[in-house]
Amino acid sequence: MNGHTATPWQVGRTLHTPQTKEWPAWAWEKNEHQERLGIYRNFRAEDQGTSRIVIAKAIPDALGSQEEAEANAAFIVRAANSHAALVEALRAVEWVGLLMGDHTCEMCPQCWSHKQGGHAPDCQLDKALRAAEGD
Ligand SMILES: [Zn+2]
Repeated sequence: MNGHTATPWQVGRTLHTPQTKEWPAWAWEKNEHQERLGIYRNFRAEDQGTSRIVIAKAIPDALGSQEEAEANAAFIVRAANSHAALVEALRAVEWVGLLMGDHTCEMCPQCWSHKQGGHAPDCQLDKALRAAEGD
């Protein structure tokens, strides 16, 4: 896991609470733009966001608009969540069992190396997994 907070991550949103239900539309919209800059783990309406873990905040600055910063936060969330799914999918197909006579050999479907010996030095699947996992 490389030490980072486990996925899934989410961008923030304004939660329906007794307090926020009283807000005028402009206040709701203003808060919504602030929430969309936040990247969180465990952001749940059930506990009104109290158990959320802040991962990061996108910050609009002189060179980047609010809209762009919100899009960046959403992209970071998609990238983190899809990264985890892709690593899981690659690990699921990393070794395939092939029947060889009376026994099954586990081999990489990309470099066709046996699992016992590990991947070939130039195996793309191995390179992708190493890059994804920070090796
Ligand atoms: Zn391989």
